[in-house]
Amino acid sequence: MGCNNLEGHFDHHFYEICDMFPSMHSMVPDTCFETNFRLIYKYIKRVKNFKDVDTFRRHAKPFGVKLDPFGIGNGKTATGSTYRPIEETCPTTCEFRDNGCLAQLYRVNAVQKRSSSNALRQAFTASAAALVSINLEKKYKDTLGIKGRKYKNRARMHVSGDFLKHGSIDIEYIIYLCFIGIVIQSIKDVEVVGFGYSHCGDDIKPYLHPLKMCGFHFRLSGDVSSVGAVTIPSFEYLPMIKASLKEEGIKAIGCPEQLYPEKDITCATCHLCYKTDNVDRLIIFQAHGNHLNYSMIQESSIIHLNKFGLFN
Ligand code: SF4
Repeated sequence: MGCNNLEGHFDHHFYEICDMFPSMHSMVPDTCFETNFRLIYKYIKRVKNFKDVDTFRRHAKPFGVKLDPFGIGNGKTATGSTYRPIEETCPTTCEFRDNGCLAQLYRVNAVQKRSSSNALRQAFTASAAALVSINLEKKYKDTLGIKGRKYKNRARMHVSGDFLKHGSIDIEYIIYLCFIGIVIQSIKDVEVVGFGYSHCGDDIKPYLHPLKMCGFHFRLSGDVSSVGAVTIPSFEYLPMIKASLKEEGIKAIGCPEQLYPEKDITCATCHLCYKTDNVDRLIIFQAHGNHLNYSMIQESSIIHLNKFGLFN
């Protein structure tokens, strides 16, 4: 399947991916299916220390790849970010789609419309977003005056969009993400490369563990479990919900950034969503945004939480 006659570190990482996805040669539609992995690898090596978006874009051109839009965060969010097009990559079953989804509003909507579902292009963009986050870590840390190892600047994956393509899980993209993850883990000596949320439910579940092993931590939106994330109408319900979930054996915690606004917590200082100590907890958010979203999230969350007898 093309895993022979390779040399150097590329070989090593490529074999890891071959082991992880033994039949990937049939999943990655390329006549010489190593080619794209080599391109991604060479690109990561070339841009591994860059901190500027334009430089990432310029260096992608010789590979024949045009990067999708991606962000570099700011002192508050302190994360790079990627976008996928909602139309092609989000499940039609998501109750927010075309119904008040925050990623279909304002600036994010304009950005997601300019993004693509091309797996290689998305892989290059994910590499750039992950690297720029890690490379800006020191700058943000200094700016915010944070000392110690607690601060982690990691890419927020899929501010818009999800893991689908033509209605099925985009396995080619997932395999590229895993490859990117292990290469960046190795080059940058980091455990976490990026984090995000998915509405793909059971379809994405088999891939969550491989992605996490490779540094990409994704939570299931609306899933009342230790790998999920749900939104509730108000944190006034939080103690009741946590107590009830505890009886079901599920540990839950409110997003500290929302819960303690006076403490200036960000994802970079909290990182509960991508904790690596194996103490996974359901993350609970409080609805925010405009009234349309508020009432819709309220309705959606109540449906999910009613499975556990809450809000009945
Ligand atoms: S729980 Fe922590 S990492 Fe997750 S969204 Fe809130 S601040 Fe960010």
